[in-house]
Amino acid sequence: MKKALKNIGHTFDVEKNEIGVTIRKGTKWAEQSAVGESIELWNCEKNHVGLCEEMGCEYCGSGVIVGWHVCHLKYLPVSLLKLEHNKEARNMKVLKEMLETGYGSISDSNTVTALIYLRTE
Ligand SMILES: [Zn+2]
Repeated sequence: MKKALKNIGHTFDVEKNEIGVTIRKGTKWAEQSAVGESIELWNCEKNHVGLCEEMGCEYCGSGVIVGWHVCHLKYLPVSLLKLEHNKEARNMKVLKEMLETGYGSISDSNTVTALIYLRTE
């Protein structure tokens, strides 16, 4: 089964065969991902545990993981921020607001993972 990349209330603005980046708090995606691994892109109404299929979330396509970059949020490279798969989040202020929606709180010194994937569908 493909791994689900959950996104809360936002869009996937990257075209097929283009690179998308999503910023996640912590290192889970770096530790538990493999290059070449397929992921499903899901738009979720709210933060949830369990399967997106069962929650009635919106399926938005798929991708293949090509890599990741782990750093403190304040050192997130602008070049990666520019590839954010949700265009609205290509702005650090907006990105922080979205991270707060997903994780409750976020600060510049938090470790984040920029998960980098190729959209395939
Ligand atoms: Zn979901």
